[in-house]
Amino acid sequence: MKLLYNAYIHTQDPPHPTASAIVIERERIVAVGEANNLLHQYPNAEKQNMEGRVILPGLTDAHLHLKNYALSLQKIDCETDTKEECLRRVAERARKAKPGEWILGHGWNQNMWSSPLPSALSGGRSPQSKRGEGPGVRASLWPSASNLDAIAPNNPVYLTAKSLHASWANTAALKAAQITSQTPDPQNGQIQRDDKGNATGILLETAMEMVGSIVPEPSIREIADAMEKAQEILWKLGLTGIHDFDRRDSFMALQQLHAEGKLKLRVLKNLPVELLDQAYELGLRAGFGDDCLRIGSIKVFMDGALGPHTAAMFQPYIGEEDNRGILNMDGEQLFEYGRKAAQVGLGLTVHAIGDRANHEVLDAYEQLRDYEKENHLPALRHRIEHVQVIHPDDAPRLGKLNVIASMQPIHATSDMLMADAFWGERSRLAYAWRTQLDHGARLAFGSDAPVESPNPFWGLHAAVTRRRADGSPSAEGWYPEQKLTMAEAWEGFTLGPAYAANMENRLGRLVPDYLADLIVLEKDPFTSSPDDLLEMQSSATMVGGEWVYVSR
Ligand SMILES: [Zn+2]
Repeated sequence: MKLLYNAYIHTQDPPHPTASAIVIERERIVAVGEANNLLHQYPNAEKQNMEGRVILPGLTDAHLHLKNYALSLQKIDCETDTKEECLRRVAERARKAKPGEWILGHGWNQNMWSSPLPSALSGGRSPQSKRGEGPGVRASLWPSASNLDAIAPNNPVYLTAKSLHASWANTAALKAAQITSQTPDPQNGQIQRDDKGNATGILLETAMEMVGSIVPEPSIREIADAMEKAQEILWKLGLTGIHDFDRRDSFMALQQLHAEGKLKLRVLKNLPVELLDQAYELGLRAGFGDDCLRIGSIKVFMDGALGPHTAAMFQPYIGEEDNRGILNMDGEQLFEYGRKAAQVGLGLTVHAIGDRANHEVLDAYEQLRDYEKENHLPALRHRIEHVQVIHPDDAPRLGKLNVIASMQPIHATSDMLMADAFWGERSRLAYAWRTQLDHGARLAFGSDAPVESPNPFWGLHAAVTRRRADGSPSAEGWYPEQKLTMAEAWEGFTLGPAYAANMENRLGRLVPDYLADLIVLEKDPFTSSPDDLLEMQSSATMVGGEWVYVSR
């Protein structure tokens, strides 16, 4: 039994919001209250003086790609201000690589290169080639295979974009994938081509897989080892749980770590829709597993993303009259998936960025709620991932249908310039978490790492300030009416994800019988300036009653 005292504890329990001591036995909280009482009541507990530090419930990232994040820690960091710097890093890796060895990188974004966005969008830029652009994308800003060939001629190079909806390959990689001028575009994807029809090296959406699928796969052991290292970083950032959006090999690696007793993170595992038939055959149900690793929902992709202009919109992207993005399916088809999943007790978790995509998902959820009722099925914890821009008529529907808005605050500040440029006025309801909360939707916050850093304090900062770390775009922030209070934002990283995982009766608060997942901070985020969030990290992290991380 442990007794932590002389602490300032935020319990997130409304009747008793603060306390100064907490008693923990094995993996659960036994008592929370005033130190004088508890020291007297539990004389034999192992005592730990917290010296006035702040204790809060551990944070959960409700949207993270654990396998990709773990492996990304080994990749070249391509998130650079210029293309030249990115190429310099690739060249450095190429010098050390064996001939033929794959060189992998992640994080580039051509929109952030060359000329700054506003002037790049003011029109009058060089004329675009008519063919070969991504769906309406300005080809002149994209990098090319030849850039990479010049520095790494003997190694296949494959660099994924920050959005994970585009990739950049060199000629050796295209050759290895047997992509030629004759290769047709795959469904819902595009091989970007030059005037002569030759592949430029940029692959969009499903075309990425043509190269991505031939990159040698790490073994389950290698993934598990990478995850074990990633887990330590997550603890340090204050995370005690994640909702994973990677696939089968991620699940296998997680199970391996768990079997070895090394998984000390609460993981909700979502499954890709391609496995729905198998899950249905098995009769697999949401919540199967234990408090450490459990089954979540079936993940479906409705559309693309803002960066590559593939998010499905009602109206065209600004400056591209005939581009409304890519809609993978309509609401009817999604409902069919949802119906099958609901029959075995699995909910849906649907990626929807554009307003059109969100509309179709909500249509499907409306049918699905009726279907659940008619068939006396439980109301499942359905969610929409991102809800990045929504039509005013659709904004109240998540709350009404009790659909979880799984949003990533850091996307708002990362994407605001792109959103203004390509969605314009529509951005009034982009990353609109205040609107969702006011309409009664539950928020579950995350980072989409490795798309963004998994640092939840950066997410909290974005949620309460709508500003970047450098203070831009202004003191009041981008669409400041969407700001949250610190308490609301904290809930988005604690109780919201707990609810999405159907664990709100044992996770997300510091009260008796709840799981002892908590973090220790030097400063109180509820009383310090929002900018202090940018520097915050956990001093100590406890998962299931065990100190898994202690700073020294
Ligand atoms: Zn994601």
